[in-house]
Order: sequence, then structure tokens, then C-alpha cells
Amino acid sequence: MGQKILVTGGAGYIGATAVRLLLKHGHEVTALDNLSQGHREAVPDRARLVLTDLSNREALGTLFRESKFDAVMHFAASALVGESMQLPEKYFRNNVTNSLNLLECCAANKVSRFVFSSTAATFGDPQTSLIDENSPKNPLNPYGESKLQVEAMLHWFQKIHGVRYAVLRFFNVAGAWDGHGEHHDPESHLIPIVLKVAQGKRESVSVFGSDYPTPDGTCVRDYVHIYDLAVAHLLVLDALKERDALAYNLGNGNGFSVREVIEASRKVTGRPIPTVESPRRPGDPPVLVASSAKISKELGWKPRYDKLEEIIQTAWDWHQKYPNGYEGKKE
Ligand code: UDP
Repeated sequence: MGQKILVTGGAGYIGATAVRLLLKHGHEVTALDNLSQGHREAVPDRARLVLTDLSNREALGTLFRESKFDAVMHFAASALVGESMQLPEKYFRNNVTNSLNLLECCAANKVSRFVFSSTAATFGDPQTSLIDENSPKNPLNPYGESKLQVEAMLHWFQKIHGVRYAVLRFFNVAGAWDGHGEHHDPESHLIPIVLKVAQGKRESVSVFGSDYPTPDGTCVRDYVHIYDLAVAHLLVLDALKERDALAYNLGNGNGFSVREVIEASRKVTGRPIPTVESPRRPGDPPVLVASSAKISKELGWKPRYDKLEEIIQTAWDWHQKYPNGYEGKKE
């Protein structure tokens, strides 16, 4: 049966994709967004869009009292490692304080299921080839720290107020699905930047650091497809009917270096992609690769897109079809 779900950050890259998948599964969805990063055009017509900021406790209180949500998926956040090393205050306010506002509403209104977007950045620099859920968490940047602090709050809100939760630690989300793709202004993520270079919209891509202790000296990341990520959200939503607290890492278990991503993008696009060697970006750990064995074993999650070129292909198709991203895009 359809449930009433609140999706914060519902106009963002990942949030809007989840909104679409929830709608396809018959749920009644409210997307909440302040449009600081999100795009109105990304929200499917059938969802209700509420434009407010999570700092507005009064508006949140009214929304919760009137809407009687069954569950919350909390995507809204500031999510840039580099920026967090310059503006930690923005990360603690937007990610920690605003999540607390939302959790208080859940507790007060007896919303007992909460799915939280956490991140690989909570782990810092673990010295293992595959990061599992028990790997030590020592964030190297305020972004990862802010998400870890929310994980800690969730633990206590569950114990004391009965708000059940699932923490999903995303590795590097990429790709496009059903009209949803990555469009940030300004763009800072590797794959969309590389594709903009392929389109001739940027001259080159900077490679941030080539002296890391990795095979080719550039950072290694685990790229997970947006659709597979959205599917994991539906799985945990269901699992929380029986479980109090869940935490899963979401990745493909394969690491690709910055250079490998660029090379794969050259293959997919058939275009030259000039690079410029640049200094390291502060806050970047050398290697982040997930073990997603736990969610596979417990909930049967199996990525549909597990090859890097395939993931990049979906993103490339989207960039070709919507050269201006969501600007002026119709459903
Ligand atoms: N990166 C890069 N050039 C860019 C953007 C990113 O070399 O223009 C690197 C970045 O340092 C990191 C990796 O690519 O090692 C992925 O970065 P992204 O910002 O896409 O995601 P993050 O890992 O920060 O979540």
C-alpha cells in the first residue's frame, strides 16, 4: 500500500531520483527543498513540492502536523568535501542543526521511520581495501564529521523516541536514470565536469593531486549508480517495518582512479578530454571503496549498473539530451 513519504532535498540530484522511484511504487510523496542546489524542474509533477528550509522550525512543525507522514528520507544537505574545508560552519548548521530540527518533528509527530543519507566521508582514510560498516570512522573533513554527528543523533532518537532509522553511506553517486541527472551550479563533481569537457563546454579537467599512494597517483573512488542507490532506499524503507536500526555502505566494491574515470569517459564519448595536473584538494582521502556485502546479504540489494563505463554512458546520454541540465527541462 502506498505510504506518505517526505523526501528532503527532493529537488536535488539524488533526492529527485528517489522521489520518482517512490512514485512508481505507488507512494504519496512530498518533496521538500530550498532550491539552493536543487531544481524545481527535477521534481516529478505527481509529487507535492514544498519550498522551505530545514532551519524554519515553524514551517516544518506545521508541515508535519498537517501531513501525517509515514516515513522521512533525508537527503537535503551541503555535500562538498572541498567547501567544507573552507566553511565548516555551513556544514554543521545545514547538516547537523537542520537534521536535528527534522528529527524533533519526527519524534513529536510519531514518524517512526527515517532514512538518512550518510557518506563514505565518515570513514576518513581507512587502511582496508574494502570498507565495511564496522571500519573505523575518523572523518578527514567537516562534511564527513557533520554526517557522523547525525548518525550519533539517530542512535539516541531511536532509543529514546522510537524513531527507527536506516543510515545509508553513499560512496560516489553517478549516472542518470529516467530523466534525472547531475546538474550543479557551479559543478564540482568529477564525472559531470569530465562530460562538460567532452561536450566542449569546459577546456579541461583538473586532476586534483597525482602524488597519492595509489597505483597511478590519483584518488581512487567507488562509483555507484543513482538508480541502484534509489532502489536501496526502497529496500530499507520496507526493512524498517521490522528493524529498529540499520546501517549500510553503498558502492560497487570496485575502485577507479581519477585518471581511469577520465580514460573511461574518453572511450564512452569518443572525445579527447584534456587534463591539467593540479594540487591536491584538501580533505580528500586517497582511496574509498565500499564493501556492500551487508546490504546484499540482508536485503538482497544487487546493483544493476556495476560497470564504470555503463554508469558514465547513462550520464553522457543525459548530458547530450539535456545540454542545459534542468534549465527549461519539461517532464
Ligand atoms: N576530482 C578531480 N577534479 C575535479 C573534481 C574532482 O580530480 O575537477 C577528484 C576529487 O579530488 C576526488 C574525485 O575526483 O578524488 C571525486 O571527487 P568528487 O568531487 O566527484 O566526489 P567526492 O569524492 O568529493 O564525493
